[in-house]
Amino acid sequence: MSYNPIKLLIAAAWFYASYHALAMLEKRDMTERNLFWSNLFAFFAGPLVIVYLYTYDYVVRTLERMGMRRLARKRAAIKIEIRDSTGKVFAAEEANERSEVPFLTRKILFDAVKAGASDIFFDPKSDGSYHVRYRCEGMLNEVAVWSQEIGSGVIDSMKLASGMDTTEHRRPQEGSFSGIVRKDTSVGFHSAVMGAVGGEKLSIHLSENASAPQKLADLKMRLDIQNSIRQALAGRGGLILLCGPSKSGKTTTLYSLFHEIDCSKYNVISIEDPIFHALDDISQLEVSNRSGFTCGILIRNALAQNPDIIAVGEIRDRESAMACVNAARTGHLIVATLNCRDNRDMFERMANLGVAPHDLVEVLQLSVSQALLRTLCKKCRQSIALPDVYREIFTGLGLAQDQLCSASGCRDCDGSGYAGVQAVFDALEMTDALKTQLGSQNTSIQQIQQTLDQQFGNAPLYCEALSLVATGVTTFEEAGKINATPGI
Ligand SMILES: [Zn+2]
Repeated sequence: MSYNPIKLLIAAAWFYASYHALAMLEKRDMTERNLFWSNLFAFFAGPLVIVYLYTYDYVVRTLERMGMRRLARKRAAIKIEIRDSTGKVFAAEEANERSEVPFLTRKILFDAVKAGASDIFFDPKSDGSYHVRYRCEGMLNEVAVWSQEIGSGVIDSMKLASGMDTTEHRRPQEGSFSGIVRKDTSVGFHSAVMGAVGGEKLSIHLSENASAPQKLADLKMRLDIQNSIRQALAGRGGLILLCGPSKSGKTTTLYSLFHEIDCSKYNVISIEDPIFHALDDISQLEVSNRSGFTCGILIRNALAQNPDIIAVGEIRDRESAMACVNAARTGHLIVATLNCRDNRDMFERMANLGVAPHDLVEVLQLSVSQALLRTLCKKCRQSIALPDVYREIFTGLGLAQDQLCSASGCRDCDGSGYAGVQAVFDALEMTDALKTQLGSQNTSIQQIQQTLDQQFGNAPLYCEALSLVATGVTTFEEAGKINATPGI
């Protein structure tokens, strides 16, 4: 066969295009099976796949611009399932089959979750239009402008899902619903609506994501902490607290605990706000302050059902904090989440909620605190040397320094340098010795914190985070969110 540079060049270009096509396919939302066949095809016919993808995107965009979303809608994969305030699947289509409203309702929620927004605002303007804005990392940005018909239609859908009165357009109302995104992540939506000039103003707050129940091991929790949890659950009495700041994944951990219990053999009641996942073998109750079913009242009602275990979505107020402690004191096992920084902070937070330290020490079996860190994108992370400021603590903790990485940014991670999250955990087991040490009537919060500092160091979560930094999983910047001072 004679050597022909032109043919060689064409072959090289062809395979380069195939490589590019594979990268393009990887960014698409596809099932694993479809992705496999598409990849196989793209490997041999890359240029054709590229032409197809560009044409497809162009057609979808044009249709969207022309307002003909019906076809585009079928193609665009909006993977969110909305659950109304009672946890049932919400079919927006039933109310509004012919219009764009059901599609836009789902799309605006799905996009908000994808963008990592903490709030969505729907503002009516005096000209009758509706402006939609997301709050992402504290900044507001406009994402859509809708006609009055669409705007009020979407707001009606959201009100219906939140369990609000849709015939009421002026009086302020509050409610909540949830959504399951891409089948595995659940998001809580807390909505508030009120009449304003031009229509109704709706604000939706996106709360902590809770992934579908998974095993404790899947959370990459250390084995000794898993065992502490199993031991505390086997005790069948007292209080187990799951602590962490908001969006640290506490609810995911709470759901994972249900995996550790054979719920069919025990009477388990879970009190949630809102209900993220419908679970078999567990009685789930939703908090509704509007109807007078506060968390504290539901805990007291649950006790009448003679439960073995009560799970509390979050202790938010004095009433629920006291109800949890009292229920734990009467021989029930209570598992609850608490919004606070860590185990050390937990005593102070509970004291602020009216639970005296010695009462808490009496019933507390275990407190697990956690923080969520973004993990580095494996495709673009870059090796770095250990900064001097960390030298001492790395030596102190016996951490290696040959795998340290920093964030860089590539197409796969949309330039952020990060992909995915991982939690770090710290468990405070209330052994008899510790209970005797902390449980005296007049032990102050400061004394408790001092004792904990002496025994466990004052930043165990931060040390856990640094061990993830040492293995190239995350960065010093992420770990710094737990503790702002390098070293300790
Ligand atoms: Zn990357």
